Amino acid sequence: MSKPLTCDVVVVGAGMVGAACALYAARTGLDVAVVDRGPVAGGTTGAGEGNLLVSDKEPGPELDLALLSGRLWADLAEEHAAAVEYEAKGGVVVASTPDGLAALETFATAQRAAGVLAEPVTADRLHDLEPHLAPGLAGAVHYPQDTQVMPALAAARLVRASGARLFTGHTVTEVLRARDGSVRGVRTDRGDLHAPAVVNAAGTWGREVAARAGVGLPVLPRRGFVLVTEPL
Ligand SMILES: Cc1cc2nc3c(=O)[nH]c(=O)nc-3n(C[C@H](O)[C@H](O)[C@H](O)COP(=O)(O)OP(=O)(O)OC[C@H]3O[C@@H](n4cnc5c(N)ncnc54)[C@H](O)[C@@H]3O)c2cc1C
Repeated sequence: MSKPLTCDVVVVGAGMVGAACALYAARTGLDVAVVDRGPVAGGTTGAGEGNLLVSDKEPGPELDLALLSGRLWADLAEEHAAAVEYEAKGGVVVASTPDGLAALETFATAQRAAGVLAEPVTADRLHDLEPHLAPGLAGAVHYPQDTQVMPALAAARLVRASGARLFTGHTVTEVLRARDGSVRGVRTDRGDLHAPAVVNAAGTWGREVAARAGVGLPVLPRRGFVLVTEPL
């Protein structure tokens, strides 16, 4: 950036969250800029598995968000399914003991009341859904709403679909403020981006970006691993 750029909103972070924010902000007619210190999906998004699960969530705000997310992804899939490797394959949660199955069914009953599709599966039907399961399991619950995308592709596709201006390789070093404290954009190591709104989509680094606006945000990192294997 040779001179400051002006837009309606600056999204800090080109991961899955920043990409989605950029898309939906742009759809409301806002002029959006996305800035990331690395490439698109260079943060946690590039390491994630992309499961969009309702099966693992108990009734409450997180499940409500997951259900909303599932509906939004189904809409997006109408246009972008192949590009984001959207797979509406469903999920199966198995129980190895009768006690475990009873607990699973209690959990599923509460989920059903919150709008989740949760279908009981008897032991003799399990292998129809997943032929490679171990023998002797007690039963399962099938969750048709569980889906999966390829997160790095999904972030890239959504950023592109947003039409936002993209500044990779730009580190946000400061949140610009007016005298009255209102946000005026961000300073990067390669120039300023002026906007009346800044979205902190810096993921696990959200605490550092918030601190640059003088805000205490208790976001902490948590380690996760994906091990890619193949059937023996
Ligand atoms: C092994 C593993 C498996 C996972 N599986 C799943 C799953 O199946 N389903 C699921 O929903 N979630 C899963 N997750 C979690 C999911 O990947 C993350 O919650 C998600 O990717 C976070 O996206 P984000 O956009 O918030 O953050 P990020 O993808 O980390 O994006 C933040 C971006 O901000 C940028 N940034 C930070 N500081 C600055 C700065 N000062 N200036 C400019 N840019 C900056 C970073 O470079 C980064 O690109 C998994 C995570 C891991 C590690």
